[in-house]
Amino acid sequence: MSIDLHTHSIYSDGADTPKQLLLQAVNLGLNAVALTDHDTISGIDEFIAASHGLPIQPVIGIEISASYYNHDIHILGYDLNPQDPTLCRTLTEIRGERSLRNKKMLQRLNDLGYALTYEEIASMASGQDKVISRLHYAKALMQHGYTQSIAESFDTLLNPGCPGYIPRQQLSPQEALRLILGANGIPVLAHPLLYPLRTDELISLLEQLTANGLRGLEVIHSTVSPKETLYLKGLADTFGLHYTGGSDYHGVHKPGVPLGCGADGVLIPDEYLANLRCF
Ligand code: AMP
Ligand code: MN
Ligand code: MN
Ligand code: MN
Repeated sequence: MSIDLHTHSIYSDGADTPKQLLLQAVNLGLNAVALTDHDTISGIDEFIAASHGLPIQPVIGIEISASYYNHDIHILGYDLNPQDPTLCRTLTEIRGERSLRNKKMLQRLNDLGYALTYEEIASMASGQDKVISRLHYAKALMQHGYTQSIAESFDTLLNPGCPGYIPRQQLSPQEALRLILGANGIPVLAHPLLYPLRTDELISLLEQLTANGLRGLEVIHSTVSPKETLYLKGLADTFGLHYTGGSDYHGVHKPGVPLGCGADGVLIPDEYLANLRCF
């Protein structure tokens, strides 16, 4: 039996509701699925409520963005207390900061001659408690015909260094770990090979994170080949970290990333969750 510990819903940049995610996971025969929306736990109540009566274990999760030498590092948190006051307050602050950045980015694009409105961009995100990200800007640009694809929106306007990009203030990796640990959660480094870090830089990051309470490394992911999984397992062993895995499913918003497996259909074993929960 297998699981998926990395998925996104409409509460961040995924296409499916928490219930749709659960139903698909049940259809695939998964034992457990974690909802890990970007910087929000707003979908968790709906996720847990929708799981009642379904033959699947819902895992409370989050994927927190942190800044490491100007690189966006993603830290997954599992089993956290969604009522933790510091967690809730900090996520609200992060949302406020994001919203300010988003308004500045819209102004910048308008100044560059792209006639987008905030309402249009917001309409690209369908969750009740929307987290509006650059992905929604990319879509709005495409819908207007300014670009032909989401990739072109990023490559020409929205990536760091491009004219429409405005950075947002982010937590440090240590702050993200503290936040997760403070809410009794289990921190895991997401997709370690997706960051533009050299091997020595990745090892140095892992040294720092492990010293600050990191517990797991995502060794199976939709972008990780079986050979890379072996390499990541070796790294996890070196640092005494548990293996975890997830698809990073976003529904139709990221085509080609099916729920319930890593690259090449590799399944994520049940014990990855059990091991992670063993103190
Ligand atoms: P933000 O948090 O607003 O800076 O936006 C980050 C989000 O934009 C990520 O979570 C991705 O969903 C999306 N994103 C970033 N770079 C790309 C890219 N090159 N292609 C597609 N989506 C991207
Ligand atoms: Mn995403
Ligand atoms: Mn990520
Ligand atoms: Mn993700």
